[in-house]
Amino acid sequence: MELVDSYGRKIDYLRISITDHCNLKCYYCTPFSGRDHLERAEILTYEEMLKVARAAAAAGITKLRITGGEPLVRKGVVEFCRMLSELDGLKSLALTTNGIYLAEMAEPLFKAGVRRINISLDTLSPERFEKITGYNWLPRVLTGIEHAEHVGMDPIKINTVVMRGINDDEIEDLAALTLSKPYHVRFIELMPTNSTAYGDYESLFVPVEEFMKRIHQIDRVQIEPATDSYGPARLCKLPGAIGKVGFIAPISWHFCGSCNRLRLTADGKIKTCLFSQEEIDIKAALRSGATQGDIIDIFSQAVAAKPSGHHLNAKNHKNTCGRAMRAIGG
Ligand code: SAM
Repeated sequence: MELVDSYGRKIDYLRISITDHCNLKCYYCTPFSGRDHLERAEILTYEEMLKVARAAAAAGITKLRITGGEPLVRKGVVEFCRMLSELDGLKSLALTTNGIYLAEMAEPLFKAGVRRINISLDTLSPERFEKITGYNWLPRVLTGIEHAEHVGMDPIKINTVVMRGINDDEIEDLAALTLSKPYHVRFIELMPTNSTAYGDYESLFVPVEEFMKRIHQIDRVQIEPATDSYGPARLCKLPGAIGKVGFIAPISWHFCGSCNRLRLTADGKIKTCLFSQEEIDIKAALRSGATQGDIIDIFSQAVAAKPSGHHLNAKNHKNTCGRAMRAIGG
């Protein structure tokens, strides 16, 4: 079976947020309004998520990404990944983390089948790290990244959200990590979510052209083709580098035309577009005995409802996605 939406896009990628809890408090990711956290009973159990993932794989999803909140704070995540990695039809199991628990968990995760890992890192300065996240844990993240590399995770993608006056002067330094390491360091435009940073969005937002220009000005940078197998990033390579530098611009470039993804929130809603407030409930069906066929039907409905794209730009961003990223699963 294949899931194809009304615009001819093949949907084969599901991001599952397993918790809205996080051990960091990044102010651009923390919810601004509404409740701070979901209650335990509102969050899907692993059995429920597994049932959804199995149905998704039967419906044509081949790539899963586990995210959060911070996925590594939820007990049992390694065993959950192991069960996911054994699903029929699944080609890729990836995980997005802030890296705080990665030093101790990289090896068990690898053994459980996780190969692709995205790690968030907005700064190389311990003081700034504390200012952005609320905790003085930069060394833990850096050690976690090294452990992921050591156990053989590949690719290792480092995601940096660029914010004016916060970390936009570190672009070259973060990109320089690729000189000696096989990482993909990807610079991402800030998105207008329902977070504590929303009121400052326009002043914090840095358009991709601006940070891309800074990297392209480095002598002998090699620009790679715009489309490739690495997702929505446009890539380049610094002279002599082992790794790559990428740019992701959800606001300036709108890669909606090639969007292949759905999201499952920790409280059991399918989001068809990050910036749509429309959510399709799957939890009620799960808790009233839905069969695999019923869940596949809900996926088909979600795919049919997937909008052509979002219509936001840096100035027109009033219609946010209704939740902060921590509560969606970025
Ligand atoms: N805790 C994990 C982590 O830190 O990677 C996974 C969840 S976090 C919500 C996933 C990603 O979303 C992080 O890289 C974070 O920087 C990004 N993010 C959160 N809010 C964002 C925003 N407003 N704009 C762009 N990226 C955002």
